[in-house]
Amino acid sequence: MDVMHTAIEYLKGVGPERSRLLKEELNIQTYQDLLHFFPNRYIDRSKFYPINQLPNTSAEFQIKGIVTSIDFIKQKRGKRMVANFQDETGNMQLVWFRGYQWIKEGLKINQPYVIFGRINWFNGQASMPHPEMELESVFKQGLKAVFYPIYRSTEKLINKGVSQRVVQKLVANLLEKEPDLSETLPPYLLNHFKLISKKEALHQVHYPDNQNTLARAQARLKFEEFFYMQLQLILKNHQRKQKIKGHSFAEVGPVFKDFFKNYLPFTLTGAQKRVIKEIRTDLGSGRQMNRLLQGDVGSGKTIVALLSMLIAIDNDFQASLVAPTEILAQQHFQSLSTLLKGTDVQCALLTGSSTKKERIVIHEELEKGSLAILIGTHAIFEEKVQFKNLGLAIIDEQHRFGVAQRSKLWHKNIIPPHVLVMTATPIPRTLAMSIYGDLDSSVIDSLPPGRKPIKTLHRFDNNRLNVFAFIKEQIKLGRQVYIVYPLIQESETLDYKDLMDGYQSISRDFPKPKYQISIVHGKMKSDDKAYEMERFVKGKTQIMIATTVIEVGVNVSNASVMVIESAERFGLSQLHQLRGRVGRGSDQSYCILMSGSKLSEEGKTRLQTMVKTNDGFEIAEVDLRLRGPGNLMGTQQSGVLELKIADVIKDSSLLKVARDTAQQIIKKDPDFTGQEHQVIKRTLSSLKIDSNIWNFIS
Ligand code: ADP
Ligand code: MG
Repeated sequence: MDVMHTAIEYLKGVGPERSRLLKEELNIQTYQDLLHFFPNRYIDRSKFYPINQLPNTSAEFQIKGIVTSIDFIKQKRGKRMVANFQDETGNMQLVWFRGYQWIKEGLKINQPYVIFGRINWFNGQASMPHPEMELESVFKQGLKAVFYPIYRSTEKLINKGVSQRVVQKLVANLLEKEPDLSETLPPYLLNHFKLISKKEALHQVHYPDNQNTLARAQARLKFEEFFYMQLQLILKNHQRKQKIKGHSFAEVGPVFKDFFKNYLPFTLTGAQKRVIKEIRTDLGSGRQMNRLLQGDVGSGKTIVALLSMLIAIDNDFQASLVAPTEILAQQHFQSLSTLLKGTDVQCALLTGSSTKKERIVIHEELEKGSLAILIGTHAIFEEKVQFKNLGLAIIDEQHRFGVAQRSKLWHKNIIPPHVLVMTATPIPRTLAMSIYGDLDSSVIDSLPPGRKPIKTLHRFDNNRLNVFAFIKEQIKLGRQVYIVYPLIQESETLDYKDLMDGYQSISRDFPKPKYQISIVHGKMKSDDKAYEMERFVKGKTQIMIATTVIEVGVNVSNASVMVIESAERFGLSQLHQLRGRVGRGSDQSYCILMSGSKLSEEGKTRLQTMVKTNDGFEIAEVDLRLRGPGNLMGTQQSGVLELKIADVIKDSSLLKVARDTAQQIIKKDPDFTGQEHQVIKRTLSSLKIDSNIWNFIS
């Protein structure tokens, strides 16, 4: 067996207890894992920080000085040991909360020590709890390199004595063993991109000679990481296209043509036409379509979905449209029914609240094939729901669906249906490239004509009366208004109270019978919700007070004002989604972001971004920068983003190079038969394939 796969337990200095800790805390199980556990940063061991210049942040520092005295201080439970530590510039405290008896015995007063650890500040006084410390004489002997690596650690590791020093030593031990660090990239790539060898890179990334060698080591390792990640993604898509057959929708027939000629209520935009053409090509190719359709709120994805479904029907297949919430499913059902009025195409709605009677009919007609389009929530995924011949599955708002659920749709037919995933949350290009690899994607990048860009304003709470006056003006003009309150799971009760308080105060300012108000929130029964929605949709109420349940789907073109309360508590993409609820008609629409006067830097950036732009892609890029890729995609999809050294944002140009390289190689030599590609073949097969990658693409 390859030495690199030796269990970490057998490395000098580890043993069973530490190996368990390393595994639990850092997921380090083998020699290989440890060598690929890259430092976060480095400290220059030849430099010491003067105490009087320690910056007022909680970070790790190396300091040289002497211990002048030791004290014990009583505290609530037990006591702590405090040593006064000083250099020529000032003094600070070293603190121990446990193990002090043993430490005290070893401590030498008035002898030069080198200490290292995290600085805490309290009342202007710096202290370092549980410092790592060595007598200067010992430190000098042990100094093998100038730059020392600092690794990610956890509270538990530190408490159990697995300090930075310990990890540094383990890595050094391993590197000293001169393990066989075989090359993982073809020599011609190393040459072409002037990359250093794997072996050199691993040595230099842990114990760099200087800044320059470190930079070259990092570049090499980042390239490798991106390259193999892209290779796997692209390969997967490539293989899917080769191996997985798809239904061939050969013709655009009478159903499509009839609708297009007689029922289409508007002219398609150029972007819509282009996207439909892309979908049409996929559907006719004989291979399974897996396409992501991105289009900002209001860009007109629904009609694209419908036209695609009509192509399926023309080829004697059924189609389904799945939405993440009941409200959204209902909305889709309503808009599609309206669009289909007068045609022979049958569609039905299936959700968690469909009655047993309704279900029986739907199940029967689905199996018979007389029902062409089924719209619904995840209820569609249930085993009992069997299609005669499902050919196209459309999924709206993909972020909300789990992978497992999506793959269930596959089993609704022997040959998997074509899949079109629609999302109104644009995925920043950098991110789309890195996690979707070569997934086909279509973008509706322009809005239907005649829309006026929404005006977005930020107002502080003390301006509320002006905002109310403005709302009254708009209502006088015959428009409708949304007022949205945040709902964040952790403080649901509190939010609920906010909502109810808001409702009461708005009811006072907008008295009946002149004003009618709808209210919708998560604690209501779905019948009641539907009733309240209905009243607003029909124009019977002018104000809709809601939590984020209206985030997706509600389509009231007469609504021209969106007021978002505590806007600083919403994420950017949510704010953008909410704003998209207005601006659907030809009237000038407004989005008013209400907030308290105290805002965090991030909160400020979010609100400013909203005021500045209506472009979903631009907003998504800011969001990505603020929150990082993992958070943006949700845990489900961040799996692929757990990169060890590369960063999809900071290293995006390198990502592009790696991706292009991977693409070229797969195009030229998809099975890696060339002699020069044996190393790729070997490396790929030794990678722990992250099942995440496979799953969420299909
Ligand atoms: P979304 O992409 O958010 O799902 P919708 O499909 O709901 O957007 O479309 C938003 C609104 O724009 C709908 O009222 C729809 O009828 C209208 N619409 C869509 N496409 C066009 C078009 N080409 N011309 C005019 N109106 C359109
Ligand atoms: Mg929509």
